[in-house]
Amino acid sequence: MPLDFLKRRGASDTGTQPLGPTSAASAALPEEVVAQEYQLKLHYAGKSSEGVRMKAGPNAMAELPSMLVGLSKSEIEVVEPLPIEFSQATPVISHPSEAMQWLNAHHVHGPITRHALVVLESIDAIDLAFDTFVCSLLDGEIDTSGYPEYNAIVGGVASHWDETTGDMVVRAVVGWGGRGVRGDTDRLGARIVAGLLTNVLASQYSLGITTTERPVPAAGRGGLVCAHCGFESAHERAFYCPKCGMRLLRG
Ligand SMILES: [Zn+2]
Repeated sequence: MPLDFLKRRGASDTGTQPLGPTSAASAALPEEVVAQEYQLKLHYAGKSSEGVRMKAGPNAMAELPSMLVGLSKSEIEVVEPLPIEFSQATPVISHPSEAMQWLNAHHVHGPITRHALVVLESIDAIDLAFDTFVCSLLDGEIDTSGYPEYNAIVGGVASHWDETTGDMVVRAVVGWGGRGVRGDTDRLGARIVAGLLTNVLASQYSLGITTTERPVPAAGRGGLVCAHCGFESAHERAFYCPKCGMRLLRG
């Protein structure tokens, strides 16, 4: 009955009336509008410890994954700082350019690490302009596609180079979240952070807890190219290469 349909539509000149089965009978606005409700509550949370200062050097860097030993429940992945071409990378799908950068940077990682990056970047617990992030599943379950459930705890350690001394600073970082919250996740997360911090402090390179602030993220122009490893930093004020920790030479 296409003609019927067109007539009805023409009669309603607001063009906003729903054309469902009852629309012919209720062309006028009802006294009380019944709205269907839709919502999605996403809950992301995380915890980070104080930083531990480490004797700098490539050996300390290579030891980062071992700080998750005894706590990791999956393969341990290392995510290196992102170079300048990924400086806009953001895990927000409605921003296609930033989302494409993010996917290009992280599609190589497994689902646990990608989930951890979404959670921890969304809550600003890590910043890949200067952090090296070592990640694993730490508690809870994964779904059939390999992605952590909302109450699974993911993370490990994040390290950056102290811009004043060039020392490596390592902190424990964990996160969780998704479509749900469970009461005991926070307490479990705190316990895991304590366990990770114990491992970090037990490292032979540990010099103890430091109060150094994390570096300030770049405003966007980008910094220098590392003469040592070729890494082009997105962190414009970096004094030490975010990737290899060598001193950046100013031109
Ligand atoms: Zn470098």
